[in-house]
Amino acid sequence: MNDNDPQSGFTPGQFRERFRIPGGMRGAPGVYLCGNSLGAQPRAAVDAVDSELERWATLGVAGHFDGPTAWTEYHELLSTPLARLCGARDIEVVATGTLTANLHQMLISFYRPKGTRRRILVEKGSFPSDRYAVASQVHLHGLDPEHDVVELAPRRDGLLHEEDIEDYLEHYGDQVALVLWPGVQYATGQVFDTARICRAARKAGAAVGLDLAHAVGNVPLNLHEEGPDFAVWCSYKYLNAGPGAIAGLFVHERHARFDGPRLAGWWGQDVHTRFQMRPRFRPEAGAAGWQLSTLPILATAPLLASLQMFEDAGGMPALRHASLALSGYLAHLVHEELGEEIEIITPLEPHRRGCQLSMRLHAGEAAGRRLLERLQAHGVTCDWRGPDIIRAAPAPLYNTREDVERFIELTGRLLAADRG
Ligand SMILES: *Cc1c(COP(=O)(O)O)cnc(C)c1O
Repeated sequence: MNDNDPQSGFTPGQFRERFRIPGGMRGAPGVYLCGNSLGAQPRAAVDAVDSELERWATLGVAGHFDGPTAWTEYHELLSTPLARLCGARDIEVVATGTLTANLHQMLISFYRPKGTRRRILVEKGSFPSDRYAVASQVHLHGLDPEHDVVELAPRRDGLLHEEDIEDYLEHYGDQVALVLWPGVQYATGQVFDTARICRAARKAGAAVGLDLAHAVGNVPLNLHEEGPDFAVWCSYKYLNAGPGAIAGLFVHERHARFDGPRLAGWWGQDVHTRFQMRPRFRPEAGAAGWQLSTLPILATAPLLASLQMFEDAGGMPALRHASLALSGYLAHLVHEELGEEIEIITPLEPHRRGCQLSMRLHAGEAAGRRLLERLQAHGVTCDWRGPDIIRAAPAPLYNTREDVERFIELTGRLLAADRG
C-alpha cells in the first residue's frame, strides 16, 4: 500500500500539528505510540473546554438552555459524528457515562437468563473490567459465574478464531443468553469479524453485545448492518477525548422502543417532559433513553472537538487506509530490523489488525520492562501488558512514518546495548 497515493486522501500524521504530543525533549519531538491506551491531546480540546467554562462563568444556569451548545441538548451534537464512526443511525448512539458503567446498563437490559439459557460467552483473557462486570451481573441474577460465564480459549497460535465461536454456539447455543465480544482484543490487537460473530449469536437465539473500546476510531464499524443488540466503548483511546472522558453506547434500532428492564435516570426521560419533573418515566426513543445523569460537559467538550477531526480527515475509510499503511510499515521494519529479538503476535492480514501491533520480546519480562523505560527516557512512549507483551499503536491522525522509524532505530540500539 502506498500512503502517498492521492486516492488515500489522508497521509499518516497529517494532523500532527493539531495535537500536543507527549515526550518531546531537547528540541526533539516525542514519539507517542500509546493511543491504544490514552490518545494524545487535540489542541482544539482546550478551546472546547475553555468555551464551556466561560459559558458557565457568564451564563450560569442559563447555559443549560442557551446557545448552540446548550448543555441539555449537548449530547445531540455528538450523535451524528458518533453514528458515522459506528456505521449506525443517529438514534442508535449516545455519548454517555463510562464504559464499564454503560456495560452494566446494557447487561441489565439485554442479559435475560431464562431456564437453561443463562450463559454469557466471553473470550478468555478478556479485559478484567468486562470480566468483573459479566460475573457480577450473573451473580445479580442469583446464578454462579463459575458455571454461567463461559470463556472461550484461544488456539495454540494465541488467537481466537471466529470459527470456534460459531462451533460453540452450534453445540451449546441454546444455553447461551448473551455473547459479549470485543471488536479488537486489547492485548493481542486482533481485529474480529464482528459481522460473523453477531450472525452466529443471533442464529443461536442469544443476545449479542460488543465492546468497542479498542475498535472505535481505529477500524471501520458497521453496527446497524451487523445488528448487535448493543455496543459500548470509551473515548479516551483512539478517540482522543482525554482521561475519563464521556463514553458511548449503541442500542440497535430494533430496540428503539425498548420496554424491558433498564436502570432509569432523568436524563433518559423524554426531553420534552424531562423538566416537568413528573414521577412517571417515559424514556427517549433509542440509545438516548439509557442516559442517567446530567451530561458531564467538561468531560464531553474534548470529544466534540476530537470528533470534528475525524470528520475533517475524511472519516474512517481515509484513516483506515493511512492506518494500515503505518502498521504495515511498522510490521515490515520489525521483521527486517528486529526479527531476531521480537515476534509480532498480532495477526498481520490487514483485516485482522488495527493500529496496534502487540509484540513479544524473546529476552523476557525484565528486559522488556527495561526497554520500555529506556524508550520512555528517550521520549518514545509505548506500553507493556504483562507478562511479556509490548504494545505499539501508531495512530494515523498524529503518528508519522518517521515515528515508526525512530521507534525501530531506538529499540534496535537499546537492545544491542543491553546485550552488551
Ligand atoms: C479500556 C477498556 C476498558 C476500560 O473501562 P473504563 O470503564 O473506561 O475504565 C474496559 N474494557 C475494555 C475492553 C477496555 O479496552
